[in-house]
Amino acid sequence: MLRLDLARLDRERSLQIEARIPPDDPLWEDLEVVFVGPVDFGARASWTGSGEIVVRGTLRASLQQECRRCLEPVPVTLSEEITLVFLPATEPGMEDDGDTRLFEESAAELDLGQAVREEIILGIDPYVVCRPECKGLCPRCGTNLNEETCHCSSEEPDPRWDALRALKKE
Ligand SMILES: [Zn+2]
Ligand SMILES: [Zn+2]
Repeated sequence: MLRLDLARLDRERSLQIEARIPPDDPLWEDLEVVFVGPVDFGARASWTGSGEIVVRGTLRASLQQECRRCLEPVPVTLSEEITLVFLPATEPGMEDDGDTRLFEESAAELDLGQAVREEIILGIDPYVVCRPECKGLCPRCGTNLNEETCHCSSEEPDPRWDALRALKKE
């Protein structure tokens, strides 16, 4: 579960969290990646002496992304150590921002969903390639140059060179 029972955390001071979030969970809505299996989250939540909650653990997910050169699907394994720190929202008007996360001390639960989603987004490398030597697609005809050779470069010189050649002839 991604919800932390604050009363229980208060009693036990430290809680183990294990969550398996399905790939079609609404939490992942609008992410530009495809999960090929559930996202596993295992962490330990504890109070610090100063009244903050620290959640430390691991996020694991299998994704499918597109090679940025040839657009073929690439399987990617994400495995991240994460640390989330939540401060009690003591002042009215305090707001969550990128670095500070807040929780309501009077609430029954602390929902970790949004924080986990953000950590997943941070952990995704948007520039994956299927292999380092991937040749990509021909920018003119779209042929996958890993599979075939096209004749674009030999048969159709870049029009910019034509312009240069025309200049030289004059
Ligand atoms: Zn590729
Ligand atoms: Zn081509």
